Amino acid sequence: MSDKFILALHGGAFQKPQDYTEHTAFLETLLKSAWRNLKGGQAALDAVIEAVVGMEDSGLYIAGKGAGPNSEGDYELDASLMDGENAKAGAIAAVRGVKNPVLAARAVMEKTPHVLLAGTGAERFIDECGIERLKDPQAYFTPSHTESQVPKASGSHGTVGALALDRDGNLAAATSTGGLVGKKAGRVGDSPIIGAATWADRDLAISTTGFGEYFMRAVAAYDVRALCAYKGQTLESATATVLDGIKDAGGWGGLIAINKQGDIRLDYRCAGMHRGFVREDGATYARSLPDA
Ligand code: ASP
Repeated sequence: MSDKFILALHGGAFQKPQDYTEHTAFLETLLKSAWRNLKGGQAALDAVIEAVVGMEDSGLYIAGKGAGPNSEGDYELDASLMDGENAKAGAIAAVRGVKNPVLAARAVMEKTPHVLLAGTGAERFIDECGIERLKDPQAYFTPSHTESQVPKASGSHGTVGALALDRDGNLAAATSTGGLVGKKAGRVGDSPIIGAATWADRDLAISTTGFGEYFMRAVAAYDVRALCAYKGQTLESATATVLDGIKDAGGWGGLIAINKQGDIRLDYRCAGMHRGFVREDGATYARSLPDA
């Protein structure tokens, strides 16, 4: 078992900066707990799920408890995860009333031969698995996310994601979201799409956030992977290439990426991104706004 490990996370990219003291402090807490767990030998997949569940439950991000409503006032949630050790993946899309979408994505990966379940069939599957559903999702999700308080569609933010490299050298990635606030009912973004928002293999792991349609059209996470694997680009250069392409196309957002060599990228093309990481030395980095 190696001494080397990493946990990196994001709590969404945004265009309009506010006071994010609480968000940043919360990321610090998650990083400290992840450090203890990974040091103790926790598997990468468990580490990313724990971090995402923490963010979903916090109500601080537009994922899980903090999800925002679509144009009909309904809450449809998306999530995905990938285990780099065996290239297995699971995802759910447009699911209502699930407390922790990332746990449902894990169940799809572990209990079905499928990668992605959507809509009412996914809701039935979640019930069959005994994964917690909310009787009254409208009451549960953070009431401050009313349409008047959260900027609509392209201005909203708050998808969450986590990546880990564990001491066995395995990588994992997870992404969870309520999607763009004010989105059309039935709209599914990049977050539950393997290769668009989420990727993990034996070399690297990626999770994205931002205007999802641009990340889907760019197949963003897989493109970072392909630039590294087939063109030999560094993680830094591949990440910049993909994000610059999204910006040039008129999109915005960011991504986090790590590789087994220990490189970490937390990069974005917008006003900021809730982001952080910790490595084996225990020093935590957590920011929302650009570094001074
Ligand atoms: N990418 C997410 C989506 O388009 C939104 C976000 O990252 O805030 O659904």
